[in-house]
Amino acid sequence: MVVKMKIVEMSSKSIINKMKNGFFAMRYLPFRLTANVYRGCTHGCIYCYAACSHYYMRSSPALFSKEIYVKKNAAELFEKELTKHKEAKRKSVIIVGNISDSYQPIEMRYRLTRKLLEICYRQDFPCFIETKSPLILEDVDIIEKLAEKELIGVGMTVTSYDNELTKLVEPFVPRSKIVRSQILQRERILTLKKLSEIGVDTYLHITPYFPHVTDNYIDEIIGDAAEAGVHSVIMAPLEITGFIWSKLKRALAKSRRYSYLIPLYEKIYFVDGRKLGARITTSEMHHYMLEKKVSELCKKYGIGYWAFTNPQFNTAMISGVYKWRYPILLDYWKLARENGELTLREALQFASSFPVDREYLSVLKEYFLNGKLFEGVYGIKKEAKDGEVVYVPA
Ligand code: SF4
Repeated sequence: MVVKMKIVEMSSKSIINKMKNGFFAMRYLPFRLTANVYRGCTHGCIYCYAACSHYYMRSSPALFSKEIYVKKNAAELFEKELTKHKEAKRKSVIIVGNISDSYQPIEMRYRLTRKLLEICYRQDFPCFIETKSPLILEDVDIIEKLAEKELIGVGMTVTSYDNELTKLVEPFVPRSKIVRSQILQRERILTLKKLSEIGVDTYLHITPYFPHVTDNYIDEIIGDAAEAGVHSVIMAPLEITGFIWSKLKRALAKSRRYSYLIPLYEKIYFVDGRKLGARITTSEMHHYMLEKKVSELCKKYGIGYWAFTNPQFNTAMISGVYKWRYPILLDYWKLARENGELTLREALQFASSFPVDREYLSVLKEYFLNGKLFEGVYGIKKEAKDGEVVYVPA
């Protein structure tokens, strides 16, 4: 199918964005800095959470995959901002492309992602790329150089090994010229293998996990990832909004094989599910069972698992580029268990050993005292000791 695409070249005012220390970031996000050289993404994933960012361009989420904005001055801005940005001076890891895939096909024409990686290398700046695209292998030379200095991590997404579902939900992700497989998404694991072989810290994102579909492939996917030398796995179940559900439902209805998912998902999300900000996700019990299952499979194959919501299932070790991250809930949970308790002073001292900003420390203090940091988290309880708040493993 040929999709009509509009490319809009633009001059941007800035390129580095600093995310706020909100509830979600404080608990789950190990980074704050992002840089997007493109707005819009031609991969056309039906579950895309970033499509709403097109409102910032006074455009519509419906045009997210058809109207691509190219920040032509991205490299000049990046070079300048990396030296001037207060946050950048602390060298906390930057995500190159979090609301668009940095290796969508248009990158082969503009090479903006590559230029940003070259700048990271010259300035010794840690970066992370999340992609579904095998085109990342076109930059293997600069990625290898960054990996030698432990300055890069690469995460790739695999949601299932079923080609029909892949074509339904991620219709325009390019195929690889270098690593071929009959199974479309296995090419991503083979891409990670190539990167792991040259020393890159690699991650497998099973995001989103499609209930009743990913279940059938999860064992094989994690086994393949372990064999490919992938460092660890990150998983999150599919989350939906009204916009995502209308597209997904339409796509599933057209599929003889997958239309049965419509009533199942209506129950899982609209009857049993729960709200997570503007999105709906599966119930706490469903999420718990998924984390448990993925964690057990990761143990079986000897690969790390980042359990964000239920830290007791975590098996991942912090390594490589993640040395330059922001601490997350998982860290404080581990600290409390290792020390037998966690005081505010210890939490702040621990956080200060990372490249965090002052605002982070004050939000941490607030969340620590009001209980939000560990709200709903297994195996830890808030207590008062000598008039002070402490967290004690339950
Ligand atoms: S690759 Fe990411 S940004 Fe691009 S369409 Fe898919 S989910 Fe959206």
